[in-house]
Amino acid sequence: MAVYQGARCRMCRRAGMKLFIKGSRCYTDKCAIERRSYAPGEHGKTRRIKETNYGVQLREKQKVRRMYGVLERQFRNYFEKAAESKGVTGEVLLQMLERRLDNVVYRIGFAANRSQARQLVRHGHLLVNGRKVDIPSFLVKPGDEVMVREKSRKLMIIASSLEARKGQTAPEWLELSPERLAGRILNVPSRAAIAAPVNEQLIVELYSK
Ligand code: SF4
Repeated sequence: MAVYQGARCRMCRRAGMKLFIKGSRCYTDKCAIERRSYAPGEHGKTRRIKETNYGVQLREKQKVRRMYGVLERQFRNYFEKAAESKGVTGEVLLQMLERRLDNVVYRIGFAANRSQARQLVRHGHLLVNGRKVDIPSFLVKPGDEVMVREKSRKLMIIASSLEARKGQTAPEWLELSPERLAGRILNVPSRAAIAAPVNEQLIVELYSK
């Protein structure tokens, strides 16, 4: 699957907020939002454009898409599936994004950011219910167990990420067993349990035009 390879901090500056794409750097004063909290580009500092409704909706969609590292077509597919479901479309959309295996690996703490998590999955370092899964977009479900493979247990990336998260608890819908390097999906996250500063209703409005 193709992924966006451009400047990641630029995406945060465009969104006007931290999207935590880079991991530990995002929590330091090296973060570009801390140093240059204005839009990127030559006129970023001086731009005074009144945004249209469409512009606001588009920006929100781009923000979520970039946060989860999903390309446009795939994001649209998630939206269409969410719209066909019985639940609240915006909430189901976020739930699907959260249930992606790369996101779960990141949320559990095996990786410092989602792109690192995606690499771990792609390189076959993870098992789901005892079977190797190397598809970052694989959707986990309640009851599934995500575990680091035996041969990958000594990977520095995993150890340093877990070390950096020491003292932090996993989201309430996930249960981490640090000694087994495993995590269990307890339930589909409620909207309140998804720590994403997002107004998903704007995305629904955008795609419903
Ligand atoms: Fe965004 Fe992280 Fe870069 Fe800060 S360091 S601008 S939060 S990707």
